[in-house]
Amino acid sequence: MYFYIKNNLNNFKELLCGYAQSVHRDPATIKLLAVSKTFPADAVKAAYESGQRMFGENKVQELEAKHKLLPSDIEWHLIGHLQANKVAAAVEIASYIHSVDSEKLLNRINRIAGEIGKKQKILLEVNISGEESKFGLTAFDVESCTEIALKSEHIELKGLMTMAPFEMESKSIRKVFSDLRCLRDSLELKFNVSLPELSMGMSSDFKEAIAEGSTIVRIGTSIFGKR
Ligand SMILES: *Cc1c(COP(=O)(O)O)cnc(C)c1O
Repeated sequence: MYFYIKNNLNNFKELLCGYAQSVHRDPATIKLLAVSKTFPADAVKAAYESGQRMFGENKVQELEAKHKLLPSDIEWHLIGHLQANKVAAAVEIASYIHSVDSEKLLNRINRIAGEIGKKQKILLEVNISGEESKFGLTAFDVESCTEIALKSEHIELKGLMTMAPFEMESKSIRKVFSDLRCLRDSLELKFNVSLPELSMGMSSDFKEAIAEGSTIVRIGTSIFGKR
C-alpha cells in the first residue's frame, strides 16, 4: 500500500544530494528527518524498510503511539510545540527535541531527564521573522535560554531550529535562514561553544535552507504525500 514512499524517499534523497552539491555542500553533512505526522505506523514502516531511521513527529501522543509499534532503532525527533504535562513522555522517547522555546520548558526537561538518567539533546526554536507563528523564542530571548541550557547538567544544546513563514517569497525565506545561521554563529562566539545543528527547511523551502547551511531538513509531504 505504501510502495510509493520508497520512490519518494529515493527521489528526494537524490534531489537533496544534487542540490547540496550545486551549492558546494557535502550532502553527508545534511541529515534527512522524515516527518511522519498524521501518517500511520505502516507508512513509517515503509520508509524504515527503505533505510530511513530518523523520523519527526509534532505531537507527543502520536510519537508515543508510533514508538510503541515500530522498531526500537528508530531515532525519534519531536518537532512540535511541547506542553509541560507532556515533557516526561517526550524525554523518554525523543532523541532530539527541536521545539524548546522557554526557560520553563528547559528547566522541566533538565529535571525530568535527570530523573531518568538521560542527557536530552535539544534545539532552541527561534521565531526569526517575528511573524505568524505563536511559538519560538525571539532572537533576544534565545541568548538567555542558551546560557541556561549550557548550565543544565541533563541537557545537551545542539543548535537552533526555525520555521520560515508560509507563502513568503524565496528571497525572504533565505533571509530567515541566514539570520538563524548568523544568530547561531554569534552564540557560538559569545559562549565559546559549538552549536553544530541548524534544523531548517521543509518540503517547500529545503533549497533555501541548504543554501544557508541547514544540517537537518524536516521533510514530510515530499516523502509521505499530502496530509
Ligand atoms: C509538518 C512539519 C514539517 C514538514 O513539513 P512538509 O511541508 O510536509 O515537509 C517540518 N517541520 C515542522 C515543525 C512541521 O510541523
